[in-house]
Amino acid sequence: MKPLIYAGIVSLGALVAFTADKKPKVQKIDPATAKVVYKLYVDESRFADLQVIKYNVPGFDKLSPKQKELVYYLSEAALSGRDIVYDQNYKYNLRIRKTLETLYENYSEARGTDDFKRFEVYLKRVWFSNGIHHHYSETKIIPEFSINYFRELVAKTPAADFPLMQGQTKEQFVEWIIPILFDPSIDGKRVNKDAGVDHIVKSASNFYEGVTEKEVMDFYNSKKNASETEPISYGLNSKLVKKDGQLFEKVWKSGGMYGQAIDKITFWLENAIIVAETPEQAEYLTLLVKFYKTGDLKVWDECNIKWVKDLNSSVDFINGFIEVYHDPIGLRADYESAVEIKDFDASDRMKTIAGNAQWFEDNSPIMPEFKKKNVKGVTYKVVNVAMEAGDAAPSTPIGINLPNAEWIREKHGSKSVSLGNIVEAYATVSSDGILNEFCYTGEEAKRAKEYGALAGKLHTAMHEVIGHASGQMMPGKTKDDMGNYGSTLEEARADLVALYYIMDQKLVDMGVMPSLEVGKTEYEGYIRGGLMLQLRRLQPGENIEEDHMRNRQLVASWVYEKGKSAKVIEKVMKDGKTFFVIKDYAKLRVLFGELLKEIQRIKSTGDYEGGKKLVETYGVKVDQKIHKEVLSRVSKLDIAPYGGFIQPKYTITDDKNVTMDEPESFTEQMLRYGKTYNFLPYEN
Ligand code: ZN
Repeated sequence: MKPLIYAGIVSLGALVAFTADKKPKVQKIDPATAKVVYKLYVDESRFADLQVIKYNVPGFDKLSPKQKELVYYLSEAALSGRDIVYDQNYKYNLRIRKTLETLYENYSEARGTDDFKRFEVYLKRVWFSNGIHHHYSETKIIPEFSINYFRELVAKTPAADFPLMQGQTKEQFVEWIIPILFDPSIDGKRVNKDAGVDHIVKSASNFYEGVTEKEVMDFYNSKKNASETEPISYGLNSKLVKKDGQLFEKVWKSGGMYGQAIDKITFWLENAIIVAETPEQAEYLTLLVKFYKTGDLKVWDECNIKWVKDLNSSVDFINGFIEVYHDPIGLRADYESAVEIKDFDASDRMKTIAGNAQWFEDNSPIMPEFKKKNVKGVTYKVVNVAMEAGDAAPSTPIGINLPNAEWIREKHGSKSVSLGNIVEAYATVSSDGILNEFCYTGEEAKRAKEYGALAGKLHTAMHEVIGHASGQMMPGKTKDDMGNYGSTLEEARADLVALYYIMDQKLVDMGVMPSLEVGKTEYEGYIRGGLMLQLRRLQPGENIEEDHMRNRQLVASWVYEKGKSAKVIEKVMKDGKTFFVIKDYAKLRVLFGELLKEIQRIKSTGDYEGGKKLVETYGVKVDQKIHKEVLSRVSKLDIAPYGGFIQPKYTITDDKNVTMDEPESFTEQMLRYGKTYNFLPYEN
């Protein structure tokens, strides 16, 4: 279920805590159209629509010296490719970044002015987005300082430091760069998916030059062969260029495009081979080096097959050209890397839950004929991030489910992990203000602060390990019978399994939670989220499209409605604000069980009409009044819509002793990265 639908890096746009596999589609949250009024933040970590925070790396101290060394080499490899993603996002990004950093470090006049603060905010936004286009909305970020102020900045900064193009004077350079920065009509969108336009020509990302969408399609269609059972990922690691009437790929490899950075990456990967934890990992590393040296996409596939087989390492990583969201036609991939350390505690918890999978199935409220006789918990791993780079930073995924090639997933399997420390860090950022505003009682807020994190982790574990594994189809029925309602219903089913059991003494007896207070916390959080809070991610007037959001509203509003007469959940007004207050937790659990039973029946019997009715009645339409109220209450809290992270900092001594140091500020880190990992020319 999940693998097919959620293959890939699970991204998180808005600063909202999700369970691991909840991958929002790219939503149309454009701060410009949302008319968000930004305060002029002087705060180092909170600016424009963004918040940047640090994250902990639990488990690092438990690693052996050799494993720490591995983390160090993989982290250096990760960071060595940082500039690739800037260049991929837009061909002038590196030159622009260098210009802005030069101004920031050398401007000789007063820095306390509002204008300078606006400049600083702009620079930080560019760092955050790895370029001048908003990391989420794709639209060019227009500076909030004036063109005149920009001229003044340049005039009062020593000329020698500017990344001038050959033959340019400083004055010519300024005139060249001003429209690129300030004119929204020039390369206004990184990825343009508007209907009726040439998506290649109209997108600013640096994946194509001189070609039309049709030419690209023809080029690859002529290469593809429908009977191929193991197709390579055509176009994944190159730029497609037309020169003298000829189309050719500029391949990203050693000696090719981005070769200077790639050679640094392979240098560190070769160091990592020496300290690899398992033979599988060493083979994977060796193949990855070979891929970077040759650019051969067959080797990339071999590499992924090896990666899938490496299940026993405590330190794992991804590094390469992986996700294709920023190519308007989805062929070419962004550089990205993440280094992960196994979450030893969470893995134990998962193991315990998976070990009881049959008990959960046997005691489930679903009809006996739809129960699995031999259920196996889906293994599911939680890791903690130790380093992220490229497209995975500063804005980061919350889960990884790879590889993307469907045939590899089918023949060789895949790996799916939740990035535990990131999920937790996201959740803590926004929680306080939100909880105080949306919890009906202080007791509820206190419970959420005490048990919220554990409740979230347990919900995720139950959803993944037991939820998706549970239940069986009637002969001849497949998951495709549910059509476009399939994933909403599947996610609802998995959520309901989690909700049903999180209020069961069994989990206390198994030792995975201290008391049923955790269950109460989860119920309260789910109802708050499903009936109110998640609406903050929609624009006024919008209905719910995203499957996970549909699922959560479906579940929450169904139980609210069915429990109305028995007053299971009461809608209460206090000081003109709406609250949904749970009055009877035991009855609510029964209702979750009933809905689970019904959705399992729908799915097992392929009752498309039944599924459609459930989703359309409860999951899609938004209560406009509540929505407006939520937006207004949230906007007063001044929470950043998007979050990202400062990376940990590692040092290695001559005798190869690796330590994790206190990380620097965001600005310090970005400036250091810009100087340390700038291996590429300004344009590629
Ligand atoms: Zn799921």
